[in-house]
Amino acid sequence: MDYNMNNLIPIIPTAEYDNVANEFLEAYFPEALLEPRPVPILDIARDKMGLDIQFVCLSEELDVYGMTVFADGLVEVYNPEEGLYDSKFFKRKTVLIDPEAYKKTNAGCVNNTIAHECVHWYKHRMYYRMQEYILPRLAKYCKCYVEQLPYSTEEEIILENHAIGIAPRILMPKNPFLEMAYTFNVGYGKDNRYAIAQLAEFFEVSKQSVTIRLEECGLL
Ligand SMILES: [Zn+2]
Repeated sequence: MDYNMNNLIPIIPTAEYDNVANEFLEAYFPEALLEPRPVPILDIARDKMGLDIQFVCLSEELDVYGMTVFADGLVEVYNPEEGLYDSKFFKRKTVLIDPEAYKKTNAGCVNNTIAHECVHWYKHRMYYRMQEYILPRLAKYCKCYVEQLPYSTEEEIILENHAIGIAPRILMPKNPFLEMAYTFNVGYGKDNRYAIAQLAEFFEVSKQSVTIRLEECGLL
């Protein structure tokens, strides 16, 4: 894997996303590459990657769906009972997921959101480690927004695109996914609604996420 040596962001062209997802699965859950099966991403995140996954409200407007904490420190979270933002201390390797906001994302499913934050940890922790030296007060966590912010930096856009692109490929690795899609007889121009619902149930993701993955694989 090549890195941009100025900021330690890995260089991952879109065409490499499937390879990175497969590399992730080889490291943490190789069974998913051998035959079609759901990927237990919450267990992988907690037990194999050592991430502490917590479900908390992150914003009043539900515009932040996930965060990964790369260095111990205070993080602003939203307290819906009080209607106030609180600063709370979280340790490095904590992942925060807003239990309502993820429903507003394109993929709209919790497993995809967990996989998304796993990609940030898996591929971007070196970048954040370097940011600790450059901008020690700012570089504690990444914050994932439902809609990309107009003032996002180029680096933030690259990091977010990696996670958006790779997460569904971890949950639906290409070859086993294609095998199941053929089993359910998915095809261009057909009424695929039943097959999409079956695939979503099988891989434990949303129907939107399956539809996007089928399009990526050229089946829709
Ligand atoms: Zn993200």
